[in-house]
Amino acid sequence: MANSRTRCLHCREYFPAESVLRLPAGSFCTYQHAIDYGLTKSKKAKEKAQATAHKIYKAQVKQNDMRHQHKLTQSTVNRLCLVLDQGKPCISCGRPDQGGRMRNASHFKSRGSNSYLRYDLRGLHASCVPCNLYQSGNIEGYRSGLIERYGSAIVDYLDTAPRVKAWTAPELIQMRSEVSEEIRRLERGEQPSRDWRQIVTN
Ligand SMILES: [Zn+2]
Ligand SMILES: [Zn+2]
Repeated sequence: MANSRTRCLHCREYFPAESVLRLPAGSFCTYQHAIDYGLTKSKKAKEKAQATAHKIYKAQVKQNDMRHQHKLTQSTVNRLCLVLDQGKPCISCGRPDQGGRMRNASHFKSRGSNSYLRYDLRGLHASCVPCNLYQSGNIEGYRSGLIERYGSAIVDYLDTAPRVKAWTAPELIQMRSEVSEEIRRLERGEQPSRDWRQIVTN
């Protein structure tokens, strides 16, 4: 096999088989090429690991930003809910408005189970703290309260609405600006710009 030739893994050139270094990583023309091959390979692996880490980092930043956006938006929408329902009894048990710390904005569909409705004022009403915190919203009372206040169409709407919506940051920012504007309007003693609890039926 005098003519047998072997390729160096690093420079890709062919060399007489008997002059080639055979190492666990492969065959090389010289030690230097074995070393260079190892260095290139670990550099590539390092770059790949860095690119992956950067991707994960970017995804986390985005996710944290959305968590922040949701937190701000929910707090703004909850504030509108409490302003709209000022003076109205607890939606779930009828307890009169005791104001301040005794009132919560309560979701008919928990925001964990329904992302579509989490900012929908039709599914968000002021309740007393005992109903919201200690009775998980007192949903059966909530249902009767909604029907009594608005009629059954609102409950049908909430029961049949989609469950999931993937909100985007621009949507939430836009919503916050509209809702904040509405809160300012109400705090000036003006009427709401629209009926936030209206159900459109065909
Ligand atoms: Zn070589
Ligand atoms: Zn209550």
